[in-house]
Amino acid sequence: MTRWLAEYAWLPDHAEPTPDVLIEATDGRLTAVTPLTGGGVPAAGVEVLGDATRLPGLTLPGLADAHSHAFHRALRGRTHDGRGDFWSWRDLMYSVAARLDPDSYLALARAVYAEMALAGITCVGEFHYLHHGPGGTPYDDPNAMSAALVEAAAHAGIRLTVLDAAYLTAGVDGAELVGPQRRFGDGDALRWAERVDAFRPADEHVRLGAAIHSVRAVPAEQLATVAGWADRHGLPLHVHLSEQPAENDACRAVHGCTPTRLLADHGVLGRHTTAVHATHPTAADVALLGDSRTGVCLCPTTERDLADGIGPARRMAEAGSPLSLGSDSHAVVDLFEEARAVELDERLRTRKRGHFSAADLVTAATVGGHAALGWGDAGRLAVGDRADLVTVRLDSARTAGVPPVGVFFAATAADVTHVVVDGRTVVADGRHLTVDVPTELRDSIAAVLS
Ligand SMILES: [Zn+2]
Repeated sequence: MTRWLAEYAWLPDHAEPTPDVLIEATDGRLTAVTPLTGGGVPAAGVEVLGDATRLPGLTLPGLADAHSHAFHRALRGRTHDGRGDFWSWRDLMYSVAARLDPDSYLALARAVYAEMALAGITCVGEFHYLHHGPGGTPYDDPNAMSAALVEAAAHAGIRLTVLDAAYLTAGVDGAELVGPQRRFGDGDALRWAERVDAFRPADEHVRLGAAIHSVRAVPAEQLATVAGWADRHGLPLHVHLSEQPAENDACRAVHGCTPTRLLADHGVLGRHTTAVHATHPTAADVALLGDSRTGVCLCPTTERDLADGIGPARRMAEAGSPLSLGSDSHAVVDLFEEARAVELDERLRTRKRGHFSAADLVTAATVGGHAALGWGDAGRLAVGDRADLVTVRLDSARTAGVPPVGVFFAATAADVTHVVVDGRTVVADGRHLTVDVPTELRDSIAAVLS
């Protein structure tokens, strides 16, 4: 039995944090979450407080980063010269992809996932498409790159959903993969499924999911194969959707409909599916996503970095799509920044305030993300859930004087002091217990750029 005493904790379905909460866990699961009443005496008796770890500040459930491409972290700060757009950024990203192998991928992902742990992220969804060796030649173990991610997450101390992406073509017109893209391809969806079927990580910190890279990368007649595979196995399915108007235009030109309509017609949408970005949906697309309860993963700092645009987050949520958050290209790894951007970007778009409450943002960053990644038992400070705790200090230059309910509008990842994943302490006093994060980031990035 482990005990923590949180100065404030954000409990499920609460509009704001609760003061003085005793949190208890056994074998990685929460066994009691007890608000201490006025006199400071817990229901379990005052003697239990003696061995409880004090958590000054606000303690949140684990944050879930529902959309990551770990290796994009190498591009941070290197893509801001001159003009350009998503497509010129992508060329640079390909040059990094061309250099990675299972060892350098492990080193880089380990550092990135440890950076996430420092930011309070206890679970990541890795949208993984860098499957094969140079030229597209499979490694001896065709899932060697996925295995590197599994090991990286274990070292960093966070949970992982490997969203194994089918990436088969270079465009909606079915153009062949060229250059570094050849490393992404399995040939067709059946061979993709065969490879993924052979990947069965037994590690408790890992789950599997499927991904359709986008309508650009999986031919229409093969979409149902990937969706069917995920459905048969009861696993989450993610897909990049309408990040760019050019994708919509190309889809209309080839198929005569929007990407969302194409996915709907091929059985891709549904409550186990998450559309990533959904920045440029039509009104009909928003209804298709919402009516099918398809989730939407917003990645506002990446969408801003890549000049994608601002998606209609409020309309999609109202239509019925649960929201989650991702740091995607890792221009920033900070779910506080992603969460408040959902509200602040909506303000810019509409010139009105007050679209999402603080509790709405907490839900997207915690239980929403975990659900999108297939971890229905995480993201809430509730008995039976996984014992994930993320404590944010309220005495930094950013958070001092801020009421606990306002933390998502004030804190940054640097204010996270204590992180517990499945009952194990991963970060204490703002330091990762096993990974020297800045050094490993510097060295692993230098290795893939040299
Ligand atoms: Zn992405």
